Amino acid sequence: MTKSTPRALDVLIVGAGFAGMYLLHRMRQAGLSAHVYEAADGVGGTWYWNRYPGARCDVESMQYSFGWDEALQQEWKWSERFAGQPEILQYANHVADRYDLRRDITFETRISAARYDEEAGSWDVRTEAGETITCRYVVMATGCLSTARIPDFPGLADFKGRTFHTGWWPHHPVDFTGRRVAVVGTGSSAIQSIPVIAEQAAQLTVFQRTPNFSIPTRNGPMDDAYEGWWKDGYARKRVEARATRTGILNRQSEQKASETPLDEQLKIYEARWQTGGTSFMGSFADIVTSKAANDVAAEFVRNKIRGLVRDPRVAELLCPTNHPIGTKRICVDSHYYETYNRPNVTLVDVRNAPITHLTESGLAWGEGKVAAFDDIVFATGFDAMTGTLTRVDIRGRAGQTLKDKWEGGPQTYLGLMTAGFPNLFMITGPGSPSVLSNMMVSIEQHVDWITDCLVHLKSHGMAGIEARPDAEGAWVAHVNEVAHKTLYPQANSWYMGANIPGKPQVFMPYIGGVGTYRDKCDEVAAKGYEGFRITGPTGVAQAAE
Ligand code: FAD
Ligand code: NAP
Repeated sequence: MTKSTPRALDVLIVGAGFAGMYLLHRMRQAGLSAHVYEAADGVGGTWYWNRYPGARCDVESMQYSFGWDEALQQEWKWSERFAGQPEILQYANHVADRYDLRRDITFETRISAARYDEEAGSWDVRTEAGETITCRYVVMATGCLSTARIPDFPGLADFKGRTFHTGWWPHHPVDFTGRRVAVVGTGSSAIQSIPVIAEQAAQLTVFQRTPNFSIPTRNGPMDDAYEGWWKDGYARKRVEARATRTGILNRQSEQKASETPLDEQLKIYEARWQTGGTSFMGSFADIVTSKAANDVAAEFVRNKIRGLVRDPRVAELLCPTNHPIGTKRICVDSHYYETYNRPNVTLVDVRNAPITHLTESGLAWGEGKVAAFDDIVFATGFDAMTGTLTRVDIRGRAGQTLKDKWEGGPQTYLGLMTAGFPNLFMITGPGSPSVLSNMMVSIEQHVDWITDCLVHLKSHGMAGIEARPDAEGAWVAHVNEVAHKTLYPQANSWYMGANIPGKPQVFMPYIGGVGTYRDKCDEVAAKGYEGFRITGPTGVAQAAE
């Protein structure tokens, strides 16, 4: 590595999504010099990249927003109950402007490598263009769902029509009018985009390998009274949300389905179905731990599908049967199932007749079946949680790469750090609640914790922190143990790494709950960063082991 323009930087932040933006703000407040490097040409992360038709939040707007500045949360007005991607991106840009963040963000710059210099106790971070920046701390605010993936279909380059991935959507409007469109995948992104694409396309063919459970959002314009209720005592409500299991207020019932008569369970599911959104999964406390409870919820949704889709054969194909409800991320939609009643929409089941390749004019599947398309939309997901981190050539002590260390699955202490990589933090890393929660709440908690930690180090004249291997091992075991008390590991989900061929199958997020996790992190800090090794400027261990 050749070093150019070395900067006296305390903290280098990778990523300018909500995590990187908030962290930059906190670093400035803490008096630490910080700079953000972002691959995109704008802020917003997920909401910058995922511009597919129908992209929308599945957490209510009043809760999927920053809660750290009372003035910001009072002044911003969401137009809908569940905000669409354009409005969330507008919000991200508003935050960047309001806090003058852009002057410390370098856009269109991808970080390709980071090497820990053990002697200096600092990181040399390299951009794809070859610039090297030296800094004390690196924070990977790179997102859990930021490496979109198209399966390795033979013939991909042969297809002469247009191809898209929902996670790399063009910045100009895409017109499907009069076109024959294929959508590959039936996860959240597909379920949101299919109804919108179907309204434009001449013909829409959906290639489904695994059906998913989806709940109607019942989205609509923001109700003034509801907004007023939130804004009255907003700060207090945010505090309450942070103590919940998912970081979402008014969602989780503590009642157990297993202690509730069946007719009462069905009434509760019906009420939640009518309210709409992911809160369906909060109907009972034991839906993802009791198979019997889960079966009732799953059958309730399957019956809804059968009621919504006119063709019984198509309805049965859309009914998920190979995983418990909620163990793959629950989807939310606006008229998804009803879309299959349209004469221009066809569902193709590729579970037992997989897509084999692309041709010049379309897709081939099963035993010689082929169809021609003008456009193919890949809604095929992400190399989630670890993919973005391991794509950067991160080298810690003794030159060990993060990719090698995580070969058998991610290992972290609290999802914040990984042993052998001093002064390298992750936001919403594997081993933290992250993708199982309202991500805004989890992002804020990690940013606040890291800020407090760096301020603590600075005020004590310390310059290094590192996860201890024994603490990390115990945490990884705990994350696994908690996951295996639930039904989650029964699904071939991206939570398990199952969507990427060859990826180790380990349940990656921490399912113990946002509130419990926050308490644990706070306790660790209060005990002098228990489980971490703190070192002085010379690299010598100086603080509590
Ligand atoms: P991101 O928003 O992913 O930002 C990471 C940034 O890092 C990106 O801009 C990326 O370009 C940049 N980056 C990555 N690697 C590099 C590199 N090597 N060099 C430079 N820059 C890099 N969560 C919810 O809680 N509720 C929802 O409703 C919800 N909906 C979602 C919908 C979609 C379509 C997707 C994909 C995710 C959704 N999520 C949702 C999760 C969402 O990712 C988080 O809510 C949140 O936006 C993550 O913010 P972040 O800043 O941590 O990461
Ligand atoms: P995803 O859930 O991973 O779905 C990918 C889809 O592509 C699956 O249906 C998968 O089928 C299919 N697929 C992959 N490879 C295939 C192949 N070779 N042949 C046929 N089908 C194939 O990805 P996503 O829909 O982009 O969602 C990812 C996550 O982002 C969500 O779970 C959620 O956390 C977040 N998200 C949220 C929202 C929201 O509502 N706010 C919207 C979009 C995304 P299999 O299931 O069989 O693998």
